[in-house]
Amino acid sequence: MIHDLAVIGGGVHGGTTALFAARGGMKVALLERGPLCREASGVNAGTLTMQMTRVALIPYALRAHAMWASAREWLGHDVGVVVCDGLSLAFTQQEEELLTYRAGKRREAGAPIELVSGAQARAIEPGVSDQVRLAGYCKVDGFANAYLTGLAYRRALLEAGVDLRENTPVSGIDREANGFSIQTSSGTVRARRVVLAGGVWIEPMLAWLGVHLPIKTLVNQLVVTERVRPVMRTVVGIANGLLSLKQYPHGTVVIGGGWQGIGDREHGGVELLPDRMVGNVRLACHAIPELKGARMARAWAGLEAETADALPAVGPVPGVPGAYVCGSVHSGYTSGPYIARLLAEHLLGREPDLPLFPIDRLLNSSIAPRGPQ
Ligand SMILES: Cc1cc2nc3c(=O)[nH]c(=O)nc-3n(C[C@H](O)[C@H](O)[C@H](O)COP(=O)(O)OP(=O)(O)OC[C@H]3O[C@@H](n4cnc5c(N)ncnc54)[C@H](O)[C@@H]3O)c2cc1C
Repeated sequence: MIHDLAVIGGGVHGGTTALFAARGGMKVALLERGPLCREASGVNAGTLTMQMTRVALIPYALRAHAMWASAREWLGHDVGVVVCDGLSLAFTQQEEELLTYRAGKRREAGAPIELVSGAQARAIEPGVSDQVRLAGYCKVDGFANAYLTGLAYRRALLEAGVDLRENTPVSGIDREANGFSIQTSSGTVRARRVVLAGGVWIEPMLAWLGVHLPIKTLVNQLVVTERVRPVMRTVVGIANGLLSLKQYPHGTVVIGGGWQGIGDREHGGVELLPDRMVGNVRLACHAIPELKGARMARAWAGLEAETADALPAVGPVPGVPGAYVCGSVHSGYTSGPYIARLLAEHLLGREPDLPLFPIDRLLNSSIAPRGPQ
């Protein structure tokens, strides 16, 4: 049997591409090394925000936010989405300048972010510190329960008739006359087209096809507190992007902001750096002083992919007809479902509403430090 499409990697990008391709009439196999969405797509902070999203991705993120807000309709299963206001805080003059610049750029790109005074920020979010000087205020914000993502996608994919193969690592791909032969731990899968949706593992996946695309691995640390009484009702960040905070309906507060731990794509997120955890938590308590009474319950790290220009890798693989890549989307939990759906539209022969992000631009790149967001 030959599938119309094989998707390799079952995070939000692979899961969404497979889902919409199958709903569009394709015979789809989804091959995932472990359980669905147990890497970045299941261990992330769940923030669905414009204020951490790169400017070029705002039009995509706005549409993706609308998708998450109506997840029950297109995904069919609950991922605990809460739509609420978001605030990005500035405590110093330097942060005020940074916030004014970044909020302005994001507003130009379509994000409904307005600047409000510290007093106005406290009226919106009574939990924030009285030291806030300025805040970016966006009504299009919110969060999901990332750990529910795999459960929701598994049900949706099976209902859509996807040949879902979890715990099926892929070890290589051979090109054939009419498609691809994919080597898995439980035999060969054949498909006319293939999508590589491997998160930070896109780089070794592309190497199977002889294509070298450098992908940087970010090792993001996260902390969750014990359940505490309500201390906040919005998503809170700060101007430099080093904080993301939200309280879940059951009382826990997830504290993130991309503080880096130790790990790599071979070993995963292997070690948390306590100094950085403390720095992240201190910043959280600075923003929401009531958090000082909360105890940390758990901390972990997950791997996020980044290209040399920090923009997505989504589109055809140059020189390999029928092969596509989908991933490396900054704030990819927020934007992933919309961007991956665009790729599914392309595969179905429809004109996507917004452009993809072809990787030709990156093929001679090397990984350099990040530019401004
Ligand atoms: C700690 C953390 C916090 C984050 N917080 C946020 C946030 O709050 N908001 C936001 O918008 N974004 C956030 N992100 C980013 C977001 O989680 C990612 O951009 C997104 O989930 C990436 O999805 P993906 O499908 O590309 O990759 P992944 O979810 O990593 O999926 C790739 C899949 O490929 C599979 N795979 C790899 N190799 C093979 C193989 N050989 N064979 C078969 N399968 C294979 C893996 O097992 C994995 O399941 C965060 C990321 C991290 C790590």
